[in-house]
Amino acid sequence: MLQIKDLVKDYVQKDIETVHALRGVNIDFRKNEFVAILGPSGCGKTTFLNIIGGLDRYTKGDLLIKGKSTKEYKDKDWDTYRNHSIGFVFQSYNLIPHQTILKNVELALTISGIDKKEREERAKHALAKVGLSKMIHKKPNQMSGGQMQRVAIARALVNNPEILLADEPTGALDSVTSVQVMDLLKEVAQDRLVIMVTHNPDLAEKYASRIINMFDGQITGDSNPYKIKKDEFKEVEEESKGKKYSSMKFLTAFKLSFSNLFSKFKRTLLVAIAGSIGIIGVSSVLAVSQGIKNYIASMQDDMLSSYPLQIAEESVDYSSLMTGLQAQEVVQDVVFDKKTEIGLDSMISYLMDKYKDFTSVKTNDINTNLLDYIENAPKEAVAAKKYNYSIDVTNNIFTPFRKERDGATQTMSLNGITQMYIATLKTVAGFSEYAQFVDLFTDFMKQLPDNDDYVIGSGQYKMLAGNYPQKAEDILLVVDSKKQTLTDILLAQLGMYPQNEFLNIAKRAMAENDPESEHYGKTPE
Ligand code: ADP
Repeated sequence: MLQIKDLVKDYVQKDIETVHALRGVNIDFRKNEFVAILGPSGCGKTTFLNIIGGLDRYTKGDLLIKGKSTKEYKDKDWDTYRNHSIGFVFQSYNLIPHQTILKNVELALTISGIDKKEREERAKHALAKVGLSKMIHKKPNQMSGGQMQRVAIARALVNNPEILLADEPTGALDSVTSVQVMDLLKEVAQDRLVIMVTHNPDLAEKYASRIINMFDGQITGDSNPYKIKKDEFKEVEEESKGKKYSSMKFLTAFKLSFSNLFSKFKRTLLVAIAGSIGIIGVSSVLAVSQGIKNYIASMQDDMLSSYPLQIAEESVDYSSLMTGLQAQEVVQDVVFDKKTEIGLDSMISYLMDKYKDFTSVKTNDINTNLLDYIENAPKEAVAAKKYNYSIDVTNNIFTPFRKERDGATQTMSLNGITQMYIATLKTVAGFSEYAQFVDLFTDFMKQLPDNDDYVIGSGQYKMLAGNYPQKAEDILLVVDSKKQTLTDILLAQLGMYPQNEFLNIAKRAMAENDPESEHYGKTPE
């Protein structure tokens, strides 16, 4: 199954001496066996397991999977290997706390692109295998540690991987539940390779069919050695030759990110409503209790930075708008003329009608008096001010957009790039219905508030590099707080993502998914 040859892993870090985590490891694994890796902390067990599982890359040597070298493996090959051949179980079960255990197990299948019904069936089957059929609708926090680890094992098995890797799976469990988990792993190892890292020699002795001792990045003992024969994988290769490999991964991932966008959109709406209720709630609390005044002040600060006070030329009372839209009587003033064979939609007249009903639409007279008043407002009353001139500057800012094939560069407005992306997306089946929403989430360029103290000084944002913009032509790049990532569309806007590659993302996803396509499995130009 797996052959490891002269495997070396060095962790090279700036200013720190290189760590030689693995110093030439040689070992072969059988198709079915239960291997326990024992060794003191820091000897390289986890590093070894992560490399076998495709989570980490080796520095030198080779890892052969079914007789094939992985030296030339690209990220995509590692992804496929990890998603289809490997299941992971960790000491901390890594379950999603607010999802049922059924959903937790299903999630592993969502990523490999299996439809909902089959997902649920397979998840239920996997949970039955680990003896948790009766608990599928419980959430992780309603379960014991042993049960949670069984869920994690079910999740690892639901893809039916050939290899299960477990890193200290009983590390957080008492001895009784440890035994249950070990029993389960032993059973799992009947028809696949299980490699487990453990501190516990007694458990290893009792359950594993092979014990490997590691010390200082090398293997120092092997209780049941094995050498893979040369022609062992011939049969497997023949078998898989005729098969077309179906990968939904990229497509599903792409679709998933779109559905994420949607839930984000819904959430933003909800938060906006909850936010306004929150502010009212906070104010009433403030009236009765002075004790928590500071806490509330800082909360209001946070809240108001997301929902600042806005003075618009026209403002709408959203609650009356909602009620207005709920009364959906049919408007009869446009009659469909059968002779013309063209129907006329009454939508515009319907909307006009409704608009008239919005008695709550108010017009503010924004004049120099008002602007002076805002400009001269006392400093302590206003944290930051920002004016919106209703001009979409993205029409006026241009960026060089490189064509990958001929290296030629064309200049496009930032908004033009967004529209081009939307237009491309509209032509791709499966994405067309989402395309228009790209606009909603690519509001990537905004005017900054005038007070850097408020933006940076209040701790809402951390300055990672450079200074707060001072001049009109300066920009500030804001990255995601957790992962410090940028979106692909923003990279394109900045002129750092070649046109062909950027616009072909969706098409590539479709091509990868369609075995008939000439682009199948490779990147179309
Ligand atoms: P074990 O699992 O046996 O406790 P590890 O594989 O976690 O050992 O670690 C082996 C050695 O590699 C240790 O010295 C550890 O500090 C080092 N190491 C592990 N991961 C990293 C990393 N990401 N960067 C630098 N050093 C690392």
